[in-house]
Amino acid sequence: MVKTCKHLQPILEHEFQRGNEIITATTWGDYDVVYFKKKLDSSMIKNNLLSDSIVYKVNRDPHYLLEEFHCEYHKKSIMGPLR
Ligand SMILES: [Zn+2]
Repeated sequence: MVKTCKHLQPILEHEFQRGNEIITATTWGDYDVVYFKKKLDSSMIKNNLLSDSIVYKVNRDPHYLLEEFHCEYHKKSIMGPLR
C-alpha cells in the first residue's frame, strides 16, 4: 500500500476509486512521487480535494508531459500523464 501525506491522501484515494493505477512510487530529488497510469481527475480534484499546502503544476516538457499535485509542506507529489 502506497502512502502519501494527509494532504494528498484524498487524491490518492479518489484515483483508486476511479480505477486508476500507480505506475511507480519513487523519490525524485528531495521529494516523494506517486505516478499514476491514467490522467488524473484534475478538475474534480482542484474543485474539491485541495488544501492550502498543495500546489498544482503542469510540466509541458515534451519528454514529460505531466501534471502534478505537490504538497509543499511534506515535499510529496502525485503525478499523472497530461493525456
Ligand atoms: Zn502534505
